[in-house]
Amino acid sequence: MKKKKSTTPAPASARPTREEALSAVRTLLRWAGDDPEREGLLETPDRVVRSYDEYFSGYRQDPREILAKTFSEVDGYDEMIVMNDIRFESHCEHHMAPIIGKAHIGYLPNRRVVGISKLARLVDVYAKRLQIQEKMTVQIADTLQEVLQPKGVAVVVEAAHQCMTTRGVHKPGTTLVTSRMLGAFRKDATTRREFLAMIARGAGTPFK
Ligand SMILES: [Zn+2]
Repeated sequence: MKKKKSTTPAPASARPTREEALSAVRTLLRWAGDDPEREGLLETPDRVVRSYDEYFSGYRQDPREILAKTFSEVDGYDEMIVMNDIRFESHCEHHMAPIIGKAHIGYLPNRRVVGISKLARLVDVYAKRLQIQEKMTVQIADTLQEVLQPKGVAVVVEAAHQCMTTRGVHKPGTTLVTSRMLGAFRKDATTRREFLAMIARGAGTPFK
């Protein structure tokens, strides 16, 4: 009933060797105009390749598995659950430049809830891939909806894109806000307002 999302990574066979990755970084260093053989840059390809393991670790994780463990003993708790200000670091798929921001997630449980650290991990799995913010917002919301099957899901993401602040139009201080409302949050204006009020109360935490 739900359409399958293409969250998936290239097949393992398409992955280059580590040596190929190191050599690609050396090429980019030369492209930037520097000499990969000078002392200060000798270790750089290795550091960059290791950073990539961290920046893009989301390709190796299954978001559905993270949410698989739910708790059904919630004593009839059926009010909105909101987690504010989940900071994330991602990279835009157009420039591979950092996207830094925060996500706010709300859902109206339908018997099952998930541990709160799982919501933060869900954000990270999608953040640690090449992204566009709109797509990431949808992926977070749709995965929650699909796995938990709550009465509704709301996700708001606000982020600064370094491809806009440090290059191109050079507009520091701008943030992009995206949202995805499903179920009760989409249909019921009161529920949506309650969520937006709850995330506004938590707002004001600075992020860079
Ligand atoms: Zn970009």
